[in-house]
Order: sequence, then C-alpha cells, then structure tokens
Amino acid sequence: MKILVSACLLGVPCRYDGRSVPDERVIRLMGSHVLIPVCPERLGGLDTPRTPSERRGYKVISADGEDRTAAFVKGAKLCREKALEAGCELAILKSKSPSCGCGNIYDGSFSGTLVKGDGITAEYLKKWGMRVLNEDDPEAEKL
Ligand code: SF4
Repeated sequence: MKILVSACLLGVPCRYDGRSVPDERVIRLMGSHVLIPVCPERLGGLDTPRTPSERRGYKVISADGEDRTAAFVKGAKLCREKALEAGCELAILKSKSPSCGCGNIYDGSFSGTLVKGDGITAEYLKKWGMRVLNEDDPEAEKL
C-alpha cells in the first residue's frame, strides 16, 4: 500500500524547531509499504526553523501573532495532490500538529492545552475521503 506520511516521523528535520521526531513504528512500515513523505508546512512555504503555530478555529496563528492560515491551506492542498499522484490509500500524520494532528490538537493558547480536533491538512484529507491516522493509533500498529 502507498501511505502518505509526515516527513518528520521519518527523520526529516522539518519541524518548527529544526528537529525531527523519528518514530520506529512508522519507519518499520518501509519494509512492507511505500511511504510518501510530506511536510505540509514546508510545502506551504514556511521555513525551518519557524515560530510555532496553533489553530484558532479556521485560522492558524503563530506564537508571535502572524496569521499563517494561507500557508497552511496551501500545504494541505499540495499534500492532497501528492497523495493523489502517488495513489495513497492512507495517511499517517504526526499527532497534535496544527497541520498534521488527527484527533487532538493544541487549543491556540500556546499553553500546552489539547482539545479535540484535527490539523488543517488532516482535516482537508479527511474531507476528501482519505483515511487518516496518527502514529499512536493502534490501527497503524496493525499495518
Ligand atoms: Fe511534521 Fe507535519 Fe509539522 Fe511538517 S507540518 S514538521 S510533517 S508535523
């Protein structure tokens, strides 16, 4: 199966802090599936490192108050294009991210408070019918 994956989970240092979060549970899937790495925030035109952002409703705001919604939406659209081009049936995206988070994201107060919800890319991919999991989902362990 072809799986769209958050690039930071595969060791690409594309996070806001210039680091990655390699996850062995996801990396092992390379042995039996084709993984397509994407970073929606980089695809949307943001640099690494960058000031962190959080969702506030339909908007995405950086910790220093910049409205980054357009970059996040652009990145989500490009991720869907890449998923379609590659024929991905599933996405495994980094938990809690304002782009990639699936199920829980930070609440926009930059206080570490989680609320139910999806990041912009996870929401967009789901809207277009793609199955989206995060790396902690037990379903991902069964692949
Ligand atoms: Fe990882 Fe997604 Fe954030 Fe890029 S946007 S660093 S892939 S969580």
